[in-house]
Amino acid sequence: MGLAPWIGANKNREKGTLEGIFMPKFFITLLMLILLVIAAGYLYLTPSSQEQEYVLMGTILTMEADQPETNAVWVKNGVIQAVGQPAIVAAETKSLPIISLGEQVLTPGLIEPHTHPVAAALLGATVDVSAFTHNSRSEIMTTLKEAANGFALTPWLISFGWDPVAIDDLDSPTLEELDALSSDRPIVILTQMMHEAYLNSAAFKAAGVKIIDKEDHTEGFIRDQKGKLTGTVREVAAISKIVSAAPSAPENASELLLRLQYKKYAKAGYTTIGVTGAVGRLTDPVASLRKISREDISPLRTFVYLLPNQVEAHPLGGDDRFKVLGLKLWLDGSPFTGGAAFEDGYHDSELTKHRLGIPHTHRGDLNYTLNDLRKIIPSYHAKGYQIALHVQGERAIEEALTIFEEVQKTAPTPGLRHRLEHNALITADQLDRAKALNMSTGFFVDHVYFYGDALPHLIGPERTARYMPVKTALEKNIAVSLHGDHPATPVNAIRVMKTATQRLSKSGKTLTAADQAITAEQALFAMTIGGAMQLGQQEKIGSIKKGKLADFTLFNKSPLLSLKNKSDDLLVVKTWKAGQETDVHALTWEHIKLGLSALKEILAE
Ligand SMILES: [Zn+2]
Repeated sequence: MGLAPWIGANKNREKGTLEGIFMPKFFITLLMLILLVIAAGYLYLTPSSQEQEYVLMGTILTMEADQPETNAVWVKNGVIQAVGQPAIVAAETKSLPIISLGEQVLTPGLIEPHTHPVAAALLGATVDVSAFTHNSRSEIMTTLKEAANGFALTPWLISFGWDPVAIDDLDSPTLEELDALSSDRPIVILTQMMHEAYLNSAAFKAAGVKIIDKEDHTEGFIRDQKGKLTGTVREVAAISKIVSAAPSAPENASELLLRLQYKKYAKAGYTTIGVTGAVGRLTDPVASLRKISREDISPLRTFVYLLPNQVEAHPLGGDDRFKVLGLKLWLDGSPFTGGAAFEDGYHDSELTKHRLGIPHTHRGDLNYTLNDLRKIIPSYHAKGYQIALHVQGERAIEEALTIFEEVQKTAPTPGLRHRLEHNALITADQLDRAKALNMSTGFFVDHVYFYGDALPHLIGPERTARYMPVKTALEKNIAVSLHGDHPATPVNAIRVMKTATQRLSKSGKTLTAADQAITAEQALFAMTIGGAMQLGQQEKIGSIKKGKLADFTLFNKSPLLSLKNKSDDLLVVKTWKAGQETDVHALTWEHIKLGLSALKEILAE
């Protein structure tokens, strides 16, 4: 996602952490109060843990080639004992409890192989100014004005999701406009891709930055000719400086938000996530993920790719609940911020020229030279780290392929399947090379949904016609997965599958590279066993097969038929992890205690 500029795009990249995702305490407090009310209502509804042994009966899509559909699954102690006839026999001979699925349809638990749960959890608690909930600049300014006037325990107002690519009239706010929102309360607006922020004078003052200073040429703080700040701040170093001046959330509150984020994934049908960079403002995001994933109530398995600065504290390995798999690096940035390392420049359009301020000759910078990578990648490869590389433009992909061709030649480890992430403009030739290296490709098809209308203005018609080539990758028999890269988009597995099969934009106006649409079967495959293969966990999860872990997703109807018919009534009903129904609604005493202690921390200050 656009976290790239925070982490990879400047000299500070080795530091790596996303210093600075935070939220005003006001929202935490509100959240705690809401939680307590919900908790009171749900406490008595908390489902008790399920039978350890039972048989599920109904329509079951296995994602196994030799038996794609079956009618029974026998589960014991979290593991699949048998599918089909032997499961029915077991139910009868052992008098096992039977859970009838009725009209609903069971699939393997969905897998989200590329997401950022900590950042999603914390940004979820800020003021939302995104294109997911707004259609115009005036709507956004109204939201900000209302939030600025709202009651708060701390003076900072943080908002997230400003997106000039998705909202047509969204010119950057001026300092005067920002000051009109509030003259004394610090306001920070983060863009959806997070490479830019807008601040009012109160925020600059609180961070110790002079409003008028002819001598100050600090990179990232944009000033006019008279040395006056314009309100715009760009890239990691500058944004971090601002953000570190803001109050951060208490650890307990942040972890509680992370638990709620886990429920969001489960509600969307996911039973496993791959954390491609544990970014977010927690003392130790990896430790928090480990703690939460290992709790019995956790609805998700968690597989993590570390940032370089997290390697020392967190060794490779783990168990089926939480495991460190490898390393994450960002080789380039986002296509929507001028950050993707394209082969050719951006398209010459109103959007690039005026709203994004990207000259059409610009083609995005690489965050690392090949020589930089030669110093980093071979040693991790030798130690068995699976490496996930963020690559959007052809030049970034070229660099990734080159370094892995070198590495696999010197120290061949074909079983270590490295990952190419997003792959906006990967070419057919590059896909062939990825295949030869046994790499997997994960596609961020949501770009087609959320930015499909804007793509031709950004990269022109020819490149748009080959954007996110999922079908070509599948035809070459490469391990393919689909992801949502939250918080870059809202968590919604069904939308991801729909977009991969239809290639339609949110407005319904644009089909992007329609010939890259994949079938419903391929989409469900990519979301289950494809994701498992990418995480190297295909022996344990990703399909419904004897011996695998009993992770399931239940839909209200067949996802395959629904996707084929392009109907809009497909829903996730519930999920099971390790044979236990996951609990997405109810809160436990543990949650309530955490909420209370966070509230106490807030009030004590
Ligand atoms: Zn990402």
